Amino acid sequence: MSSVGPGSPGATRECPHCRETILESAGVCPACRHYLRFDAGADASQASQAPALTPLRIEGSIRHPADGEPWEYTVVVSIRNDRGEETARKLIGVGAMNPNEQRTFTLSVEAVFAKAKGPGKGGMRH
Ligand SMILES: [Zn+2]
Repeated sequence: MSSVGPGSPGATRECPHCRETILESAGVCPACRHYLRFDAGADASQASQAPALTPLRIEGSIRHPADGEPWEYTVVVSIRNDRGEETARKLIGVGAMNPNEQRTFTLSVEAVFAKAKGPGKGGMRH
């Protein structure tokens, strides 16, 4: 829910394959990993070739104790802005673990340099 215009940093679109909301600049859908075709805006493909940074990556595993009742788990990821307001909250998945089973969870934040388009034209600032 943002008012970011097309071509601006943070502009989004819908993946034609899985319908997830992804960055307009993405060359590969991060959700379904399908390649995306660029039929409009050829310079967007240049942005997708820039090396991605991974400023945050957290990975952890949990293992169910060898005895006891099975677990049910829920994976939720939330994003907060610098004012502490939650801007996104998503249920990633649920599942169950039986005794002695292990699950590994990976959270990664990828970032690319976003090139602002045009010489500061069309200033629609809020
Ligand atoms: Zn997709």
